[in-house]
Amino acid sequence: MSERFTGSFTQQEPIPEAGIDAAVAVLRHGRLHRYNTVAGEVAETALLEEEFAAYVGATYCLALASGGAAMACALRALQVKPGEPVLSNAFTLAPVPGAIASIGAKPVFVEVTEDLTIDLAHLEAQAKATGARVLLLSHMRGHVCDMDALMALCDRLGVRVVEDCAHTMGAKWKGVPSGRHGAIGCYSTQTYKHINSGEGGFLVTDDAGLAARAVLLSGSYMLYARHRAAPPPEVFEALKLEVPNVSSRMDNLRAAILRPQVAMLDDRRTRWRALYQGMEQGLAGASGVKLIPRPQHEDYVGSSFQFLLPGWEAARVARFVAGAAARGGELKWFGAADPAGFTSRYAHWQYANPVPLPQTDRVLAGLIDMRLPLTFTETDVAQIARILSEEAALAAKAEAVEPVAAPVAD
Ligand SMILES: *Cc1c(COP(=O)(O)O)cnc(C)c1O
Repeated sequence: MSERFTGSFTQQEPIPEAGIDAAVAVLRHGRLHRYNTVAGEVAETALLEEEFAAYVGATYCLALASGGAAMACALRALQVKPGEPVLSNAFTLAPVPGAIASIGAKPVFVEVTEDLTIDLAHLEAQAKATGARVLLLSHMRGHVCDMDALMALCDRLGVRVVEDCAHTMGAKWKGVPSGRHGAIGCYSTQTYKHINSGEGGFLVTDDAGLAARAVLLSGSYMLYARHRAAPPPEVFEALKLEVPNVSSRMDNLRAAILRPQVAMLDDRRTRWRALYQGMEQGLAGASGVKLIPRPQHEDYVGSSFQFLLPGWEAARVARFVAGAAARGGELKWFGAADPAGFTSRYAHWQYANPVPLPQTDRVLAGLIDMRLPLTFTETDVAQIARILSEEAALAAKAEAVEPVAAPVAD
């Protein structure tokens, strides 16, 4: 009998007791809305913003209803207009092009490299071809590109950078926190990310004008002076009648749950790194498997794991994924013909009229992805790696594999 993994790839850790206590206190007083405060009280949301700003070393921070709302707010704050092209990675998740589309702008996709980061040569070509002035850079699955090269290129091209740090909260590039290279950094506090409030997000920046616009956009009415990690009221004076209210605030209940978790981020990065490296060691040398190199300057959060099956026919990949699933290994395949669960790829986002990107198609055709929740132990990771290595060997040597639909049909 071959071994089978029986754990869950989607089980989070509980909310820390301090967060539960703080949440119950908010429920007892009932003032969940961030601007519903009594004399002398500072809302949980305002405190959370101050603490997250300090954690990433940003001057300003705004908490929002979701990571997607943070990205759309960032694009609006940069005054991206309807119909305007906005550059983004072709390898990302649906809320990224969705944020661009939500303001009527046009996603322009950029090829991904085999390292799963944005292709800088193609970025330059797409920027020049479209005249785009904004890049929504997704650090997809935690893989950070050479940020010095990217920022130098974008500065030269006059392209402002918004960082989507949904997978890099707590990560760094050369010691600089992810989200602190571009004009604005956006983060998600959704359950599957690095701190958990069910739904939620942050936007950080050092630019007072952008911060004031973002606060007004989030729906601050004329109560922006109750923020702490925001510019002084005079910055709002010139903008308050000009910027629309696109209601997307965070509430005090979520903020209460999140505050103790911000302080846990560095420890979580260390724990995730141990799981990630365990998987890396377990899969080293597996047949037909190419691991993704991690640059020395990248202090990553290993909350998920990716590898490539380069050159494998679709049917062989499908057999591998099915074989792993039968033994409890929950894998996502970015090359699958149809979108499944949380996973779709650029060709599926038809509202954006995507143009085929051959390099990205080649990479995604063999791209396998799995979650590494902190509820996994190092023993779990070693067992999953053993199962995947065995299934890879079986699939790699299978002579004839049933043909299935081509992974990249469109
Ligand atoms: C989850 C996610 C987001 C958006 O976060 P939500 O809080 O769910 O809106 C953005 N980008 C990527 C890559 C994500 O995985």
